[in-house]
Amino acid sequence: GIQVPEKVNYVLRTLHEHGHEAFVVGGCVRDSLLNKTPADWDVTTSAMPSEVKECFAHTADTGIQHGTVSVIVEHEPVEVTTYRVDGTYSDGRHPDTVRFTRSLEEDLARRDFTINAMAYNEETGLQDPCGGRTDLRNGVIRCVGAPEQRFSEDALRILRALRFTSVLGFSVEQNTESAIYDLADRVRMVAVERINAEFSRLILGQRADLVLTRYRGVLSRATGLRIPAVNDLDRLPASVPVRLASIADADPKLLKYDNRTVRLVRDIRGVLLALEEFSGGSGENSAGACGAGRAMPLYKKENRSGEGTEPARVQLRRLLRMFGEDAVRGALEIRGDGTALLERILTDGDCFSLRQLAVTGCDLGLPPGPEVGKRLNRLLDAVIEGELPNERELLLRRNAAWTNEG
Ligand code: ATP
Ligand code: MG
Repeated sequence: GIQVPEKVNYVLRTLHEHGHEAFVVGGCVRDSLLNKTPADWDVTTSAMPSEVKECFAHTADTGIQHGTVSVIVEHEPVEVTTYRVDGTYSDGRHPDTVRFTRSLEEDLARRDFTINAMAYNEETGLQDPCGGRTDLRNGVIRCVGAPEQRFSEDALRILRALRFTSVLGFSVEQNTESAIYDLADRVRMVAVERINAEFSRLILGQRADLVLTRYRGVLSRATGLRIPAVNDLDRLPASVPVRLASIADADPKLLKYDNRTVRLVRDIRGVLLALEEFSGGSGENSAGACGAGRAMPLYKKENRSGEGTEPARVQLRRLLRMFGEDAVRGALEIRGDGTALLERILTDGDCFSLRQLAVTGCDLGLPPGPEVGKRLNRLLDAVIEGELPNERELLLRRNAAWTNEG
């Protein structure tokens, strides 16, 4: 059987005691049968929203327009949704109307894939009129009903199909797959935030490489991103910015990623470009030059770090200064270089930012103004290049010498 958490079981029991049907449904049933821990537990019920509210002391109308009431059990919400049939979709995005029903089968039939169309409670056991269990066992993503119709109703389901394929390592049933090829363009009618959410989960999936390769055309049409032919995502950490950065040409702005993601992707690519030049052009495992324009000269060919600092270490410090730790780490991971040298720089406490410099602007004896910042940066340059240790006395001496030079 399925191990339903006690709070959720309490909700099921209470609804039963009031004469209603109630089941856990969808993703939590699917994940339980796969021996995975469900992210959340959704309850579906024959009770109308007003009837649900009568059964519990504490509820919140979180999605009442589509029949969802949050029941608060010991300060935690459990989402309870009335059996529902979606009306016609005239916009390919959301149903014009929703109609409540007293039939679990009707509710399950409106769901996207057979593996998501199962319900369970202790008394009646697994309810699986669409054959989800078999598809789950065989690793198959199959639409409930006619694929063309289901994808025309809500084109996001196309991306969801590929997301589940990637995350679960499943394959797409043939009719479902041909409808995906036929209707991929329609995904662009969907709100970009919904596309973003599914695409992010897709690229984090265990079979992301396979799905990106096999459905490259579909995904390009669906997202508007240009997806390149070869990727090597599977060995990368489960980070959306790192994986996006490794998909050359994928512009995260198009999918309205948050500023932090957009910036990190841009910075990782900046590091990649610089490292590519540093290591003398296109290494086999370099992720391809991306981004507009050519690289600015991020390094100096002739390395002047006299004191035996390895050139690679100096180069990483320069990049850390310019792009930050996350970007440098992401780029090294994408290149497959390993992060050992980076970690050594960090644990040794190498100075690569003004914050770490052993002097501040107040120490320089200069009048306030832009010269202070310039001077600090010049000192930082010398430290990063390995020409000067990051020691207060030495920095002050060098500073005084520069002041005297005029
Ligand atoms: P996860 O929570 O891991 O993303 P999930 O299957 O629970 O997976 P949700 O988006 O939480 O996905 O949706 C819950 C359930 O609602 C799904 O299992 C499915 O039955 C149904 N569902 C979700 N989105 C759609 C959709 N676009 N079309 C039809 N049914 C959907
Ligand atoms: Mg869910």
